[in-house]
Amino acid sequence: MNGPLLKVENLTKHYPLGAGFLNKTTPVVRAVENLSFSVEAGETLCIVGESGCGKSTVARLLMRLMDPTGGRVLIDETDIASLKKHALRAFRRRMQMVFQDPFSSLNPRLTAGQIITEPVENFERLSRKQRQALAADLLRKVGMAPEMMHRFPSEMSGGQRQRLGIARALALEPSLIIADEAVSALDVSVQAQILNLLMDLQEQMGIAFVFISHDLGVVEHIGHRVAVMYLGRIVELATREALFATPVHPYTEALIAAAPVPDPTRVRLEAPVEGEVPSPVNPPTGCAFHPRCPLAVERCRIDIPSLTPMSDGRLVACHVRAPAAGVNAQPVVAANSSLAVR
Ligand code: ADP
Repeated sequence: MNGPLLKVENLTKHYPLGAGFLNKTTPVVRAVENLSFSVEAGETLCIVGESGCGKSTVARLLMRLMDPTGGRVLIDETDIASLKKHALRAFRRRMQMVFQDPFSSLNPRLTAGQIITEPVENFERLSRKQRQALAADLLRKVGMAPEMMHRFPSEMSGGQRQRLGIARALALEPSLIIADEAVSALDVSVQAQILNLLMDLQEQMGIAFVFISHDLGVVEHIGHRVAVMYLGRIVELATREALFATPVHPYTEALIAAAPVPDPTRVRLEAPVEGEVPSPVNPPTGCAFHPRCPLAVERCRIDIPSLTPMSDGRLVACHVRAPAAGVNAQPVVAANSSLAVR
């Protein structure tokens, strides 16, 4: 297969507000708007943004845990919406998910061994001996002793439980793992261990990751490429090196400027940019970031900027910093002014 492993085209999700069904008059939460990106085999794409910007919705759409309002998700060029029962089962083998809180996603009444072999047993019968060998192998892969297979999740630390969640995701040898805030609930030192484990597994098994996080420190550790989301849209998509060295979108710049140095004694800044995140029910016209952006010009209030390729290959949606060809946008504030950061 030559194309990307995962391709997302104009993915959109609107949730109806209240209990109603979607029709033209129902107010909606515009959780994800027109998202397009791709992920190559063996690559890690991070999706980063503040709480409420639509990251978890993207994860659920990728796993086909719900239907999109518009757009498509393709795995190896197959639209996952077209998959019927049998093909969907096969697809589910290839894509697995690791959650933020393994405690609530792991059945507390099962032992570690039962938890991690269950996905395989949904597909094939295993003898007791095969089950034990598989459990031991998976536990070793995630750096745990095989004897742990007899323990219950409640008898494990947070880091061990997350390793268990990863072992379960590995059981079916997926090509892609969607990790939604997979280390956010862990202490910083345990976070680093789990991130290193994921990177080792990627190298050994060629797994691709879509790694969703609100934490830039985590993203900088693990991402090959990074998509920055703001209010349901990607505003910048770049290699990790380019993004952290020379952020182009004013929102990316403000996020990076406000990111705390990795230090467990420091508290995260809640809102890195001055002003409130607008409501996705009634998003601002034009560029959704314009009410908080010191570089905003008149056009930003009117037109939604599209993701525009820059000379280094990154994509940026900003009328001022990445004007589409032929547009002459004059910033109100000099482009190199420091952004308003708390
Ligand atoms: P994130 O993961 O970045 O915090 P989410 O994808 O959870 O963002 O949410 C994006 C937006 O969609 C938020 O405004 C959230 O309140 C809203 N939302 C999420 N799930 C639902 C739902 N089931 N019904 C209505 N609104 C939802």
